[in-house]
Amino acid sequence: MSRIWVLGAGQLGQMLKHAGMPLDLEVCPVDIESEETFPLKPHEQVTAEREQWPETAATRQLASHPGFVNLQTFPILADRFTQKSLIDKLELATAPWRLVEADTTAEGLHQALGERVLLKRRTGGYDGRGQHWLREPGRDAIPDDWHTLAIAEQAIDFDEEVSIVGMRGDDGQCHFYPLTLNLHVNGILLGSVSPLARLAHLQAEAEGMLGKLMNDLDYVGVMAMECFRVGDHLLINELAPRVHNSGHWTQAGASVSQFEAHLRAVAGLPLVKPRVKNLSVMVNLVGTERDNGWLAVDGAELYWYGKEVRPGRKVGHINFCLDSQAETRSALDRLEPLLPANYGPVLDWLRSQLD
Ligand code: ATP
Ligand code: MG
Ligand code: MG
Repeated sequence: MSRIWVLGAGQLGQMLKHAGMPLDLEVCPVDIESEETFPLKPHEQVTAEREQWPETAATRQLASHPGFVNLQTFPILADRFTQKSLIDKLELATAPWRLVEADTTAEGLHQALGERVLLKRRTGGYDGRGQHWLREPGRDAIPDDWHTLAIAEQAIDFDEEVSIVGMRGDDGQCHFYPLTLNLHVNGILLGSVSPLARLAHLQAEAEGMLGKLMNDLDYVGVMAMECFRVGDHLLINELAPRVHNSGHWTQAGASVSQFEAHLRAVAGLPLVKPRVKNLSVMVNLVGTERDNGWLAVDGAELYWYGKEVRPGRKVGHINFCLDSQAETRSALDRLEPLLPANYGPVLDWLRSQLD
């Protein structure tokens, strides 16, 4: 049996572990706060479920292991300044941006980027945390301690948000899942749908962009690219060097899930273009208590992360990949009364994507 160590023991690490079982890959997620050391052998591989980590005995040990796949990519993508610089270097479309330097003013940012400007902390932000809007000239200021530690982006008046998950093997071969349509509310992903015929004309553009990035980084594994769709074009929002929430539907809807694909790449096993079954829908469970009634909804595939429930925290997700879109619609109808009232618009949005 081969063993793969994962830096991070959140839900992504747990789902990697789950995906390793049928292949007899022993996946060992490691808590980044741990001050223990672990029995890593020289021939074993290390990967990560997050792009950044604190200095602890555990992270020092894993990050200094020669089998850490893509180690050089993490610092580049974990810092929005170096990530956006890479996207610019490769001449890929992204929201216009500036580094917030020591002497940068809100007025200067409005002049360069327009009326609405979104400040994002260079590191550590997720689920929309670490963001600050400059809503109009003369109204909002740059927070004092954000100078040099943030980038500023032009507000994009996008039509919708999509993402693509791709994989690259150590032979340089890339494969991609179809584009996923995502609904974010207040910066948190709440629902995804894939594949959608009406997005198919953007697939080649998306694959070209993510493929170029993975090749430039000589990346091995699964990478996700979040985009804004503006008309017939894509602008890159951000990249994640790991399995991604918008790819969770692949657990139900593809012959090889994103978790298995990442493990195959890291372990040097064959990669193939995943066969996609029917349309899949994913509903993220955020800040809500578990309800076993979900399990009684025909076709629901629940992943419950076993975390303490807190407002705004991702605690699970439900996938559907049913034979027909009519069945998906009925399943969402049955789920609706079992979710908090704020899910009404999310389920409406999901249903509106079905035929
Ligand atoms: P994640 O949890 O996906 O890692 P994050 O906190 O890293 O999120 P982003 O993905 O950069 O942050 O932004 C979160 C959301 O904020 C986006 O999905 C989008 O809805 C909105 N957003 C981000 N950048 C812009 C922009 N330039 N213009 C308009 N909306 C934006
Ligand atoms: Mg992010
Ligand atoms: Mg994001």
